Amino acid sequence: MKNTATASYAANPKKSLGRLHKEPSPTYRSEFQRDRDRIIHSTGFRRLEYKTQVFVNHEGDLYRTRLTHSLEVAQIARSIARTLKLDEDLTEAIALAHDLGHTPFGHAGQDALNACMKDYGGFEHNLQSLRIIDQLEKNYAEFDGLNLSFETREGILKHCSLKHAAELGDVGERFLNKTQSSLEAQLTNIADQVAYNNHDIDDGLRSGLITIEQMKAVELFSIQYDKVMWKYPKLTGHRVVHETIRRMIGEQVIDLIETSQNRLKAANPNSIDDIRQHHEELISFSDKMRTQNQELKKFLRENLYYHHKVYRMTRKAHHVIKALFNIFIDDIRLLPPEHQELAKLSLLDNGETGQARVIADYIAGMTDRYATIEYARLFGVEGSVFYS
Ligand code: MG
Repeated sequence: MKNTATASYAANPKKSLGRLHKEPSPTYRSEFQRDRDRIIHSTGFRRLEYKTQVFVNHEGDLYRTRLTHSLEVAQIARSIARTLKLDEDLTEAIALAHDLGHTPFGHAGQDALNACMKDYGGFEHNLQSLRIIDQLEKNYAEFDGLNLSFETREGILKHCSLKHAAELGDVGERFLNKTQSSLEAQLTNIADQVAYNNHDIDDGLRSGLITIEQMKAVELFSIQYDKVMWKYPKLTGHRVVHETIRRMIGEQVIDLIETSQNRLKAANPNSIDDIRQHHEELISFSDKMRTQNQELKKFLRENLYYHHKVYRMTRKAHHVIKALFNIFIDDIRLLPPEHQELAKLSLLDNGETGQARVIADYIAGMTDRYATIEYARLFGVEGSVFYS
C-alpha cells in the first residue's frame, strides 16, 4: 500500500512547482519518485558511505556513516509520512539527500571549511547540498546537477542565512517571507534529529566513550531502559542497548505523529499553500518530548561530542581541512587538472571568491579517507594521521 490516499495538504507530485530545466513527466513514476531515484544514482550519494558524523570512517566498521544515517532518516520519516498521509516519495527523496553537502570529518570538517571560507562567503552544509544537486553533479547531457523538483530542493535546504537566502531565488524565499516548507520537509528535518540522537547513543556506548550508567541520568533513556530491564531482567550486553533505543525511537515517533495530528486538526489546512502560509510549523513534538530531547542533546554534547578522544579527532580534522585549503589557495596547480580548469574559469568570472569556492567544493566532496590520503600526499606524512 503506497501513497494510496495522501491528504489534501500533502505535496502533490502532479502539482509540483517544477524543475529548473523543463522536462517531460516520467512515464511510470511520479515526479518525486524520479527525484528519489536520481539521488540514489548520484555520485554524492555514493560518497556518503565514506563520510562520518561523529567518528572518523575507518575508526571502526560498526559505526554509522552518513549513508546508513540517511537510510535511517528515510525509514523513520517514511513511516511518519505514511501515517500522516503525506507523500512518501518526496519524504524519502529529501531524507536521502539531506546530508549530501557534508564535508569529510563531520561537523569538525564543516566548521574548519567555514572558517577557511570566511572571506569568500562562508561554507554551510545545507547550501552545499543544494549546490550539489543544482550544479555540481555532472552526469546529465542537458543540464548540470540533478534537476530536481522544487519541493525536493526546498526540503534539502533546511536552514539558510538571510544573506544567502536572498541570492537563492525560489527556494530561498521562505526564509525571507517567513513562510513554511512542506510538511514532508518539516517531518524529515525532525526525523533527522530522532535518527542521530539515538544512533549517537548507540555508537557512543559501543565505542565505550559513554556508559549506560551515565545515560541513566537522561530521562528519555532511563524510562525505556527501566522498562526493558523490568521485562527482561536477565538481558545483558548490546541487546539491552538495542531494546532501549528502539523503544526511545518508538516513543519519539509516536509523540511526533500524535502531536502533529492534533496540530493539523486544529489548524485545519486544505492545501499545501495553507501549510506554507501557516504562522508556524505544524509537524512538532509535544512540549514534554521537546524538553526531554533537549536534555538528551545536552548530554550528548557534553559527554560524547566534546569527549576528550572525539575532541582530539576534531582538532586533527580542523588541521587537515585548513592545511588542504591553504595549500590549494596558495597554488591551484596542486589541484587535480579538472578542478584546476574550474578554478581558472572561476577566477575570470568571480575573482578570488570564485576560485576559493572551487577549492571548497573539491574539499567538501572528499570522503574522510580521501582527505586523509590527499593530506599525506601533499605534506609527505603518514596516511594514518587519524590513528592514535
Ligand atoms: Mg542528518
